[in-house]
Amino acid sequence: MQKHRIVAESSSAAKSAPHAAAKAAPHPLHHADFVDSVAKESQLPPPGAPEIAFAGRSNAGKSSAINTLANRTRLAFTSKMPGRTQQINFFRLRGGALLADLPGYGYAAVPRELKEHWQRFLTRYLATRQSLVGLVLVVDARHGLSDPDRALLDGYLTSGRPVLLLATKADKLAPSAQREAARAIGRDIAAAFPFAVAQVTVVPFSATRRIGVEAAEATLAEWLPDDIIVDDRNPAPADAHFESTKEEAPRPRGMARGPKYPR
Ligand code: GDP
Repeated sequence: MQKHRIVAESSSAAKSAPHAAAKAAPHPLHHADFVDSVAKESQLPPPGAPEIAFAGRSNAGKSSAINTLANRTRLAFTSKMPGRTQQINFFRLRGGALLADLPGYGYAAVPRELKEHWQRFLTRYLATRQSLVGLVLVVDARHGLSDPDRALLDGYLTSGRPVLLLATKADKLAPSAQREAARAIGRDIAAAFPFAVAQVTVVPFSATRRIGVEAAEATLAEWLPDDIIVDDRNPAPADAHFESTKEEAPRPRGMARGPKYPR
């Protein structure tokens, strides 16, 4: 039986993704720039550029994770009113790929209708977005998967695309507890989505202590085509992939076309 990957902080990028590490320690999200905020499906950028989505419960640490991986302090805004920012923020990476920061969910004070509207939007987006190459799901390591996280994965995983699960705020746990938290999340995923365990990589992560950054970057680099990973010594034109009108989603390397594990 295939197993999900749990990449501990002590694992080097070379161990978890040899070919990504060989590309001189890529930082796929460095140099990200804000492009647009989108509140409706009709406003989504045309599919074409490979897109990586970030999702998570409000307050799980998604904005902090984006800022850490992008090496910026205030690229994604950590919100003072969790759950109120109901839009997708798009950032363009230097090689032309896009980062989609999805609205945080699960915040109790948000009116039910708004919650349901966004749940439908996110489910549709994750299930049908042609250009999506992967989902980064940010989960508080101390709390594990919530019901809305499971609902999101349920809609997404049948697409056969990969998930990087950042078990964040790991700095609040001792190293052994970080590993156990990641394993517990892995077991939870295996129980709920046995068909999809090989799609999911769990990484203990901390924005404040920079735990798991290298491992997360190695996984993200695997999702992007070779020519889109730009390192400082080899800059590429920013619009290289952005204007493409290709209907077909760019596939992450090593992933089969279409649903890999149909239910
Ligand atoms: P978001 O709502 O998911 O975007 O979460 P934020 O990134 O705004 O973070 C929510 C709260 O958790 C803030 O007070 C952050 O400072 C804190 N936080 C985020 N990441 C970490 C982390 O890795 N470690 C610790 N200790 N706190 C964090």
